[in-house]
Amino acid sequence: MVDTRALGHRPGSMRTLRIAVPLDAPMGLEVLAVPPGDEVDLDLRLEAVAEGVLVSGTAAATAVGQCARCLIETTEPVVAGIRELFAYPESATAATTEEDEIYRVVDERIDLEQLVRDEVVTALPMAPLCRPDCRGLCVECGGRLDDLEPGHSHAILDPRWAALRDRFGTGSPESTDRPPAGPGE
Ligand SMILES: [Zn+2]
Ligand SMILES: [Zn+2]
Repeated sequence: MVDTRALGHRPGSMRTLRIAVPLDAPMGLEVLAVPPGDEVDLDLRLEAVAEGVLVSGTAAATAVGQCARCLIETTEPVVAGIRELFAYPESATAATTEEDEIYRVVDERIDLEQLVRDEVVTALPMAPLCRPDCRGLCVECGGRLDDLEPGHSHAILDPRWAALRDRFGTGSPESTDRPPAGPGE
């Protein structure tokens, strides 16, 4: 909660707000969030305008999550741009807008938490990556391709043989005997 009385409802009056706010709950989504205990750096300008208090600036933090391709932990810097009006209760904006559609000045104070939370979550990437060209996981062994030797691959079993193996049960993998030929072979 930030007290806005100093602005005195005088359009043009302004103050800046630079604070680091520690979080008591994660800010983000399951796959990527700013963890509790971390801080969100607010660099904001609070400006009185005719209809209320205009808040603009940035909220910056570092989110922690999982690479969408290779699943290792990854960190993602987030800078959310903020520009939002908190309407005075007596303003035309407040009178003509539904309760939950806009932010409001309540008892000469504004609650920045929900605004910052909304903007930071919106600024998070949907699919975080440990690096932009992460190659993900090997579909055969699940190894992380960036950690494996270049050209990592597995012997590909001929799909016709795989079908035979499925039908007749798995023979000894060391066996060099050709399995019985199937129809159409
Ligand atoms: Zn990755
Ligand atoms: Zn592999």
